[in-house]
Amino acid sequence: MELHRLTIHQARALLEKSEISATELTRAVLDRIDAVDARVKAYLTLVAERALDQARDADARWAEYRRAGKGGETPPLLGIPMAIKDEICTRGVRTTAGSKILNNFVPPYDATVMEKLNAAGAILIGKTNQDEFAMGSSTENSRYFVTRNPWDLERVPGGSSGGSAAALAADETLFALGTDTGGSVRQPAALTNTVGLRPTYGRVSRYGIIAFASSLDQVGPMTKDVRDAATILRVIAGHDPREATSVNLPVPDFVGAVGAFNKTPPQDKTPLQNMRVGVPREYFAAGLQPGVERAVRDAIRVLESLGATAQEVTLPHTDYALPTYYLLAPAEASANLARYDGVKYGYRHAESNEMWEVMRATRGDGFGAEVKRRIMLGAYALSAGYYDAYYLKAQKVRTLIKQDFDRAFDAERVDVIVGPTSPSVAFKIGERVDDPLQMYLADVFTLSQALAGIPAISIPCGFDQGLPVGLQIIARAFDEERMLRVAFAYEQATEWHTRKASL
Ligand code: GLN
Repeated sequence: MELHRLTIHQARALLEKSEISATELTRAVLDRIDAVDARVKAYLTLVAERALDQARDADARWAEYRRAGKGGETPPLLGIPMAIKDEICTRGVRTTAGSKILNNFVPPYDATVMEKLNAAGAILIGKTNQDEFAMGSSTENSRYFVTRNPWDLERVPGGSSGGSAAALAADETLFALGTDTGGSVRQPAALTNTVGLRPTYGRVSRYGIIAFASSLDQVGPMTKDVRDAATILRVIAGHDPREATSVNLPVPDFVGAVGAFNKTPPQDKTPLQNMRVGVPREYFAAGLQPGVERAVRDAIRVLESLGATAQEVTLPHTDYALPTYYLLAPAEASANLARYDGVKYGYRHAESNEMWEVMRATRGDGFGAEVKRRIMLGAYALSAGYYDAYYLKAQKVRTLIKQDFDRAFDAERVDVIVGPTSPSVAFKIGERVDDPLQMYLADVFTLSQALAGIPAISIPCGFDQGLPVGLQIIARAFDEERMLRVAFAYEQATEWHTRKASL
């Protein structure tokens, strides 16, 4: 058996039956990394020794639970290997956000999501590559190296959580975390045939997530199937008193919602009966690759065959999502990134004793071109005289974009909205680096949900020219359960998610 290929729930079943140990599982993943990561380059930092220590502890804990006859009651991820995007603080493990300005940063604390995953028993394998400060759609903006798409090593894995997506697609981990500010979990998932979930804003704590654009940033699970995404969301969600925008709502049993749905014997042939699916006219406009459109339209027919009713909806402000996002996200970034000054922590370019010179040189050398571009755009949009024309105007348009979704969900009474995650399949490395606008277009379909604060998931739905295509399923705020149900029903009826890149 190739243990690195397992999903979380498959591995859990084998651990429960004592058929495998956490140590065997961890070793299998580390061996896989040895075999393929020189080509994929998903990881920035590996913590192999630490992982094996954690695995031994996990095995000891499994043994204790079993002795007490409570093998089914161990923490949900006990002994499961994970990969974490380098945007997320891990105590004692270097965390760079893909930037040179944090090349020596070892956080003295864990992000809340890490505390939760640790308490659930998961084993950290390493930190994954990403675009610098999560700014990008291809992982080419990393200050360290370029990550490759396991489906075609000449192509990008998407971004900015490209390292997490590539690690997952190459079976170099059982699951991963990414962050999604405007698509960075969903778009790389789409480009690598994996599952990526952006939760409702406020569902998951941002404490300990290196800030890019605070009103948009969310952490999301990246997994091999939908059930695993539900499992991880269940673990990482919940109110955090340390994070002011974290919402104090009970965490639903996401796994139960998906599982119960699966059980009803005899197997329910129309599990999506009574489900109304909205198909936005604006998501099938010019710029969408024909092969991607074909795969997504086929997927909608599958949903219909499962009992759902599909109807066209309109999200009239879709065209404004990109300019709105590229005013608001840089504005917030310009403020968030002011803390990197070569004084408090991180990298210092110290060739002068003069304070301003140290800051100028540190930021000049520590930040890459895209980050500088965003800081300049953001500072400009916020400057006196331009604030009303740009930042304030963009905030108003953000409300209009949110109201588009409200109208579809409330007036048109659709339960979920579906469409493509990315307008294209994975593009070639180097193809868009010199054209920021082309790069920004990779996220045209994922920016609106982030601006509206609503959840969305990308799941595998086919191939075009041998490369994966993702289906995006969007739901109302805090309605992740329904979104997961639709995703799970589709996944059960298809086999795209079982296809693997050959490496
Ligand atoms: N590609 C978008 C950007 O560059 C979104 C990135 C993200 O979600 N972190 O800002």
